[in-house]
Amino acid sequence: MDVMELICIRCPKGCLLRVELEARGEEPRVLSVSGNSCPRGDEYARKEICDPTRAVTSSVPVRGCALERMVSVKTERDVPKGLVLDVVNALAGIELKAPVRIGDVVLANVCDTGVNVVATKDCLA
Ligand code: SF4
Repeated sequence: MDVMELICIRCPKGCLLRVELEARGEEPRVLSVSGNSCPRGDEYARKEICDPTRAVTSSVPVRGCALERMVSVKTERDVPKGLVLDVVNALAGIELKAPVRIGDVVLANVCDTGVNVVATKDCLA
């Protein structure tokens, strides 16, 4: 049996989680989670070990907007944690043209994840 410690990031309390893992096999298997103050910590630990994902937020330049030079963006859903840097790099070449509205797709199917990157603020001309 292996033991890992994680900080739960589901709320500001930041509980220290102790995760017991089955040592055999390539796929990690969670045997138990302790240290969590609520069920979300258990869920977080199991997902973080077996299928870690993250939402990605960033900002991209926009042309033709009188008030802003950058527009904040985010992935519509989580993407695999291992692709976060690829998503950030994919956004590096994007430049938008005003008007941009909240929810506009900035980059569809980013890195073949099936997830779109969308604008999170209006940026009108
Ligand atoms: S286990 Fe619950 S209380 Fe503790 S940090 Fe996670 S969400 Fe917050």
